[in-house]
Amino acid sequence: MQDSPFCVIITVKTDAGGLKAAIYCKEVVMFYKDFKELKLSALGLGCMRLPVLDEDPGKIDQETVDKMVAYALDHGINYFDTAWMYHKGNSEIAIGKALAKHPRESFYLSSKFPGYDSANMSSAKEIFEKQLEKCGVDYFDFYLMHNINENNQAFYLEDKEVWEYFASEVKAGRIKHLGFSCHGQHDLLKKVLDKYGDILEFCQIQLNWLDWKLQNAKAKVEMIESCGLPVWVMEPVRGGRLAKLDEKYEAKLKELKPEASMPEWCFRFLQGIPSVTMTLSGMSNMDQLVENIKIYEECKPLSEAETEVLLGIADEMLKEKTLPCTVCRYCTTYCPMQIDIPKMIAVYNECVYNGSGFAAKRVLDHEPEGHRPEDCIGCGACQQACPQMINIPQMMQDLNAIYQEALKAPAN
Ligand code: SF4
Ligand code: SF4
Repeated sequence: MQDSPFCVIITVKTDAGGLKAAIYCKEVVMFYKDFKELKLSALGLGCMRLPVLDEDPGKIDQETVDKMVAYALDHGINYFDTAWMYHKGNSEIAIGKALAKHPRESFYLSSKFPGYDSANMSSAKEIFEKQLEKCGVDYFDFYLMHNINENNQAFYLEDKEVWEYFASEVKAGRIKHLGFSCHGQHDLLKKVLDKYGDILEFCQIQLNWLDWKLQNAKAKVEMIESCGLPVWVMEPVRGGRLAKLDEKYEAKLKELKPEASMPEWCFRFLQGIPSVTMTLSGMSNMDQLVENIKIYEECKPLSEAETEVLLGIADEMLKEKTLPCTVCRYCTTYCPMQIDIPKMIAVYNECVYNGSGFAAKRVLDHEPEGHRPEDCIGCGACQQACPQMINIPQMMQDLNAIYQEALKAPAN
């Protein structure tokens, strides 16, 4: 008997010091995708938005995470994706603790090298060792060069020593499969694959029905396919942004499929792309996990007509000017003025949507002094880290202008 997505065979020590085989069975309701010799659950648990306490991203609610991980494994999810900086560095620890309660052979664990920050390039080995320690494992099933983009490519792609180091860890068996995540444009993806395609086995990109148009993700998928690599998906619901649409758009979709939720539209869209092998969703509570697993009980892609309507909505939404922040918070670590950048972008977007500065006044009046858009010194450190390539300093200027205008308006 061999391991399968439905059960794994593990060898355990007996009290007498001998070995015996144990079978770990899962209550599987999930479809799987082939990757080399592995069967990966089509849905993976992203660990960037785990449940937290006191609204502090650094304080992970371990008890809930343990329950979510147990439920995920019992229902067929076998892929867990974390990274060095998620949850102020605590995501790796939390997911490691939760997974330690389960046989190592029953899950695939993925983490990432934070090479988007040039300061980390000289510490690749120390960081990798620390990551293994934080996760409590002695190998990663999957490991990615994290967040390659146009702003960091100069040092990220040129540091051959770092790439050679991770290739050596693949040879040593401490990384089973090496890939990369990229928020860059099509040409950058191609550059990465041209340069390191011989050691890279998968490519993780931001992919959802809105970015199919906004970030030209369609062309990226085609290019990755042409290189013979499978696609890993991040932000399938765009940081929750696509879980709730404007009423007029939701009405159109409800007309076609009255019972389908908005996340279901997102996931069914992705299920129609054959090269999509892994879809990672950053789930923050049990309800989301249960709902998402239900959608992955079977592969049921959208019909052509449904896809057409959905992409038509994407076109309409893109006409409305908003900034595509996914609230990943990569930028905030770097802001010397400690401005809550994603919050400011949300305010900016609300103002743009509403055509008024009301939201700016409502929120910024209560923002602590020294941490408002007017305090931005335009250093650009945030922009370098932003996977969405948002011109944050410009947004700060624009938002400040909106706010100053709103301050002049007479109170109602
Ligand atoms: S440009 Fe402004 S918002 Fe961005 S890191 Fe610098 S001070 Fe912070
Ligand atoms: S501005 Fe960019 S880096 Fe910051 S939270 Fe939004 S998407 Fe992430």
